[in-house]
Amino acid sequence: MEKIIAIANQKGGVGKTTTTINLGYSLSLNGKKILCIDIDPQSNMTSGFGINNETLKYTIYNVLIEGVEMEKAIEKPKDMENIYIVPSSIQLAGAEIELVPMPSREFRLKKALDKIKGDYDYILIDCPPSLGLLTLNALTASNSVLVPIQCEYYALEGLTQLVNTINLVKKNINHNLDLEGVVLTMFNARTNLSIQVVDEVKKYFKGKVYRTIIPRNIRLGEAPSFGKPITIYDPRSKGAEAYDDLAKEVIEKGGEIIE
Ligand code: ADP
Ligand code: MG
Repeated sequence: MEKIIAIANQKGGVGKTTTTINLGYSLSLNGKKILCIDIDPQSNMTSGFGINNETLKYTIYNVLIEGVEMEKAIEKPKDMENIYIVPSSIQLAGAEIELVPMPSREFRLKKALDKIKGDYDYILIDCPPSLGLLTLNALTASNSVLVPIQCEYYALEGLTQLVNTINLVKKNINHNLDLEGVVLTMFNARTNLSIQVVDEVKKYFKGKVYRTIIPRNIRLGEAPSFGKPITIYDPRSKGAEAYDDLAKEVIEKGGEIIE
């Protein structure tokens, strides 16, 4: 059955976009049909898949604000099978405000997705670094939330707020919303800090943390500027291996996680 997963954390730079691109692509290599949706005005996921949004007729902006059908905004990234993209654009920066007076403003993504339901195995939504109306649209439309956490100082900061938001949405808008899992990112085995953060996060999110930990890997940082997932850019890198492991874990564990 299809699963819609929001990749969310209101902190910037924790690996949301990197995880959406590479988990999405690795899931597609594992035989799943994937749709990745970019709802961050920064559009890093869009460019990370090699898509130039300046030449596009429709993006997620037109879907959310103008009611254009999702189908019309779907793009196929070059040389990739089984994976489709809904791009974002900088226009979306205004959407947070434009959505405010709209009827059922938190349901607009869900309504657009209802029409293409069943066409994909997984739909991943790359959220912006805030808990505003765009992220709220993603949480309303999703079955679950996958939270990337960077193995850095202050890793746990803001997580209470994120968990509270997820619980509020679950209680009031989307009763089925689950925590899919927590993925630790940018792990550096040589620092005590990274190791400490892993322990703390595991304590905080008991049983919800993926066994796979994404290492800090230079190749992962380089791949987006070539518009390629890591598994195409450098299939032998540690980063490629880690995201393939994560994809397998996501498929195996389904909704009921983990260690
Ligand atoms: P977010 O979407 O949460 O803002 P990104 O996925 O864009 O975070 O990551 C922030 C920056 O860190 C980007 O430049 C990205 O290429 C880089 N990055 C992400 N994950 C890794 C990693 N595991 N190793 C090295 N660099 C990474
Ligand atoms: Mg991002």
